[in-house]
Amino acid sequence: MPRIDPSRPNPYSGSPLDRAAGRRDDGDWIVAALDHPATLWTPVWRNRSLMQGVAEQRPEALLLTGPAAAGLRDSGGAWAFLGLLHGTPLFTVDISAEDAPTVGTFTDLRAVPGLLAPDDAAILAHARGLMHWRNRSRFCANCGAACAPRSAGHVLHCPACQAQHFPRTDPAVIMLVTRGDRALLGHSARFPGNMYSTLAGFVEPGETLEEAVAREVFEESGVRIGAVHYHSSQPWPFPASIMLGFYADALSEEIVLDTTEIEDARWFSRAEIRDHDAHGFKVPRGDSIARRLIDDWLALDE
Ligand SMILES: [Zn+2]
Repeated sequence: MPRIDPSRPNPYSGSPLDRAAGRRDDGDWIVAALDHPATLWTPVWRNRSLMQGVAEQRPEALLLTGPAAAGLRDSGGAWAFLGLLHGTPLFTVDISAEDAPTVGTFTDLRAVPGLLAPDDAAILAHARGLMHWRNRSRFCANCGAACAPRSAGHVLHCPACQAQHFPRTDPAVIMLVTRGDRALLGHSARFPGNMYSTLAGFVEPGETLEEAVAREVFEESGVRIGAVHYHSSQPWPFPASIMLGFYADALSEEIVLDTTEIEDARWFSRAEIRDHDAHGFKVPRGDSIARRLIDDWLALDE
């Protein structure tokens, strides 16, 4: 089974940041960094990221410094220290309370798939995911009191019950099920157009990743699988997942659909997938690990 090529990391991974986690609890250092005019800021507005060049189809992250950045800090929204970018501190701040941000144009990361440089995509995904957690975690899940941020935005502390809450990332398995020259792809009502993609689902408490792969495939398609091989993972902060990519060998072929989960599932040959337009279906977008799993499997035959 294909292994990931380290020179080609999955989209939204491979961040150039040194997360410098040891600095998060160094209050003096954080305050000095917050006040420094050279410090970089990547604001998030309603899950969107600050970019430039979007209209020209050449989007890039717009990192702010100096007075423009100082204004963001006064917005009162959640902020966090993301790390060091080539030695310079980089922070994020959520400015969703503003009705119309004046610092520039905010764009949904998923609206520009494959157009951002990998470094920019990774940084913006990181900031978006962290701010989503902060915005959804203002009150203690244990007792309901308002939480206060600590560790430069990476911990939420409950002053009432002393609970500490940490950023949440939900594991999801995503798998290409294969049998000889054919692969099993499904179509969900949530997919755009006539797209067929790999099966996927969230890991449940008390199961291994391999068990989650087998359960999800059987639930959605009725297909039994045998060996499971890990491929790679992908941060997927849309809103809060990490996708764990696998290949799975099918032991059976008959499809029994669970139409509450997916509308259709079919076996496709490599030739059909390569020439999907001629066969009337789409494959997943280039920024997804689903596409990576499919492409790497197709390449095995070349
Ligand atoms: Zn509490």
